[in-house]
Amino acid sequence: MRKKILSLGIFLLAGAMLNTSLEAAKMKIGMTVDDLRLERWQRDRDIFTEEANKLGAEVVAVSANGDSDKQMRDAENLISQGIDLLVVIPNNGDVMGAIVDQAHQDGIKVLAYDRLLTNSDVDAYISFDNEKVGELQGEAIVEAMPKGMYFMMGGSPTDNNAKMFRAGQMKAVQPYIDSGEIVIVGDQWVKDWLPEEAMKIMENALTANDNKIDAVVASNDSTAGGAIQALAAQNMAGKVPISGQDADLAAVKRVAEGTQTVTVYKPIPKLAKEAAKLSVKMIKNENLGTTTTVNNGQKDVPAVLLEPIAVTKDNIKETIVKDGFHTEKDIYGK
Ligand code: BGC
Repeated sequence: MRKKILSLGIFLLAGAMLNTSLEAAKMKIGMTVDDLRLERWQRDRDIFTEEANKLGAEVVAVSANGDSDKQMRDAENLISQGIDLLVVIPNNGDVMGAIVDQAHQDGIKVLAYDRLLTNSDVDAYISFDNEKVGELQGEAIVEAMPKGMYFMMGGSPTDNNAKMFRAGQMKAVQPYIDSGEIVIVGDQWVKDWLPEEAMKIMENALTANDNKIDAVVASNDSTAGGAIQALAAQNMAGKVPISGQDADLAAVKRVAEGTQTVTVYKPIPKLAKEAAKLSVKMIKNENLGTTTTVNNGQKDVPAVLLEPIAVTKDNIKETIVKDGFHTEKDIYGK
């Protein structure tokens, strides 16, 4: 009997020890997010965390609230907490590039999520084909308004993606400028992608041009939302084609009711889940199976680039609703 109790005791102790060592072995991912105030990034964080948890990793996510100094401190903090991998959605891809060497010194690899870390030794990059996003925006707007006065509204000047969106937009718009059908009356970039900044820019542009603006190429849904408020104040919402991206709920509603021409849907669940899988492979030093590379000014970064989809009034159901990204009830209220 005593022997039995003793062996049961040893068995339980061994079990407990194994459990603690498994706990200790749990992978830990630090995620520094530019700005969780924007709808899209909350979704990224939640899905990424859920998938990483499934794969046996815990995630500590921090928002820099659009402040690149804070983001640097956040990242340093995460590194000092003994994480196994750092995931960065940079406010400023160039500034945050500096974190890569610091992480590497501690043996921590770095994944650039959605936005590239430029001029750095970053280990991998996952995003959408961002130039294609811009092209889809430009194409939808020139289709809706093939001639007239255009206002170009760029994204945050510190976001590398914003430059890629613009390059894509110009691929679609430039031929019309060359033929003289489209005239660019203004071109401004929106600090931190903030809707209130976008609204001010649009108000000023309307005033400066006597309301003679026929189309707006805006780079995402939050800025489009701000610009549309300014257009609405002049009774011009729905008359002036305008683009966006992210399929934010408010934007999809605007597309459905006709005040926004197009949003570009980037299946965030796919991005976030792929990123979680990639993260765990990076921690385990496994082959990443990336399909392409993107040059960041210093090196060709192994990359995964997913396909974006243009969404207009006509295909909301086959895309966003079908994927369960938003429900029909959320969009149409019924
Ligand atoms: C992302 C967009 C997003 C924007 C503002 C960009 O880097 O690619 O999806 O709307 O940042 O957060």
